[in-house]
Amino acid sequence: MALDPITQAIRIQTERTSQMEHATPLFLTSSFTFEDAESMRAAFADETDDNIYSRFSNPNVQEFVDKMCALEGAEAGFATASGMSAVFASFMALLKSGDHLLVCNSIFGSTHTIVTKYLPRYGITYTYVSADKPEEWEAAIQPNTQMLYLETPTNPGLDIIDLAFVSELTQKYNLILNVDNCFATPVCQKPIDFGAHLSVHSATKWIDGQGRVMGGVVVGKKELIKEIYLFCRSSGPALSPFNAWVLSKSLETLDVRMERHAANALKVAEALENHKAISWLKYPYLPSHPQHAIAKKQMKNGGGIVCFELKGGLESGRTFLNNLQMLSLTANLGDTRSIASHPASTTHAKLTEQERMAVNITPGLIRISVGLEQVDDILQDILQALNNV
Ligand SMILES: *Cc1c(COP(=O)(O)O)cnc(C)c1O
Repeated sequence: MALDPITQAIRIQTERTSQMEHATPLFLTSSFTFEDAESMRAAFADETDDNIYSRFSNPNVQEFVDKMCALEGAEAGFATASGMSAVFASFMALLKSGDHLLVCNSIFGSTHTIVTKYLPRYGITYTYVSADKPEEWEAAIQPNTQMLYLETPTNPGLDIIDLAFVSELTQKYNLILNVDNCFATPVCQKPIDFGAHLSVHSATKWIDGQGRVMGGVVVGKKELIKEIYLFCRSSGPALSPFNAWVLSKSLETLDVRMERHAANALKVAEALENHKAISWLKYPYLPSHPQHAIAKKQMKNGGGIVCFELKGGLESGRTFLNNLQMLSLTANLGDTRSIASHPASTTHAKLTEQERMAVNITPGLIRISVGLEQVDDILQDILQALNNV
């Protein structure tokens, strides 16, 4: 019976044990045993898929990966301890000294640090290209460019990159298209359908969805995932089986959760768009979003993040956070609980003003991760905080 990916994310399950459990048990074991020398030899020779050691593979981790592959329409995947280890592994396994990486300039802060501080130490160079000028990207491709890395929607500016357009570009120049799909989640956007070779995630965010565990995952082309697996098997950013168990359960509700997150976010965006304390507001599914048409084409909904710029800049940002009564001030997103953040004074505070502007972090930028509370309560809190900045 052919099952829809959303059904598969609910129904894929580790083989039942003799206990006939309904929910998958936790496989908290560091290693796995063998009946005899021959089966152990065969496992080490990759002649079987038997688990050997939880740094390499584990049933809970594999269940989570299998569900992610179903949702993303991917051939294979590998899960890691955090989103950053997934991003890092996708670079280290597939780039080498002398290679060049093309990167869209609106990326997560730690990804920026890896690209600009660590990769150059290994002889991997990079060029940033502008999220709002994809027509200029082709000119930045060099003979040694290996990969194009981007986020869409971008964090935290919510720029939308046209996946079909960049896929054509990467095909023309034979580059790996590596997309951080964290903000949209696979129930809202499937980069592989548009030609991406890899889709990476921080599972810590919407996939967990309840602010409990860290995790990351890369899915995509089998031959690329094989390299990532071999790198991770040796370097060891393994996802804990407990976290994998939590994340696998979370995938069973991802679609219904994201539908409500997005519905709440759209209502918040519509209600705030013309507020007098705000100079602009962005939400992918608002017609005023500069790339609204692209968002409609490649995303099933607008996602759960709304961002806006306060007229008063940096100080207003701080006042706004202080005024909030219900929304959480925390360094996370994608939770059942709504969260407000002010990147210029927190996540991106270490960057210079110039560096912040280069990645579109304006002084009064506020990012709201819209939760699952009743939307009127969310709005009430944001409005009273805005009215007093
Ligand atoms: C949080 C985040 C990451 C990093 O993930 P961790 O799980 O925190 O390591 C990468 N990309 C984006 C877009 C993120 O929001």
